Amino acid sequence: MEVLQNVKLSHLNTKYELLSGLERVEKIFNDFDSERILVTSSFGATSAILLHMISKVAPGQPVYFVNTGYLFEETLRYKEELSNQLGLNVIDTSSPINHYAFTQQNQSWKYNPDLCCFINKVGPTEKLRTGKDVWLSGLMRYQNANREKLQIFEPRPDLLKFHPIIDMTSEEVEMYATIYELPFNPLIYQGYGSIGCAHCTAKGEGREGRWLNNAKTECGLHI
Ligand code: SF4
Repeated sequence: MEVLQNVKLSHLNTKYELLSGLERVEKIFNDFDSERILVTSSFGATSAILLHMISKVAPGQPVYFVNTGYLFEETLRYKEELSNQLGLNVIDTSSPINHYAFTQQNQSWKYNPDLCCFINKVGPTEKLRTGKDVWLSGLMRYQNANREKLQIFEPRPDLLKFHPIIDMTSEEVEMYATIYELPFNPLIYQGYGSIGCAHCTAKGEGREGRWLNNAKTECGLHI
């Protein structure tokens, strides 16, 4: 069974390999039922690229936004502005209020950031995965070492992770945004290379400002 799954996975990766990011997004919506495709976005530094592709290929597709309660005001405003520009169907979600309150009272981002991320990001997203076959995400290999080896399709126990823009370079991202006049999260222009929660994001190149002075490099959602 596992061998069969591996064969299917390598077949899918080969089939999508030669396509552009936009063609891959088009193909996934042809190959799979859109109701079984999960799209999430953090409206972070480079989220506009994949969101633009989705708005072209599958307008109206729900885009889930997990609000941790600790995001920058700039990110929340950017979410509204980009959603209006692209006509996105964004659905907000978050952890139960008492779970969030627990992390607030305990300042979990300081003392146990893995738990804080689990409660405020991973948990709410796990619920969204029910009944889905594919989960789209805008990870790119150049962003950090954890992402360098990721393939277009990666298996997860319950679904397939799909990374249609995994091989875009930072130059291609810039060019795509210029061509389609896409705004980036404004915090980029204040020196933030990657943008997550305000407690855990500092200024810096790439993802170096995320969980600064902590061994943690990912929230646990994708990696
Ligand atoms: S990034 Fe920081 S504040 Fe946000 S959920 Fe994770 S630990 Fe908590």
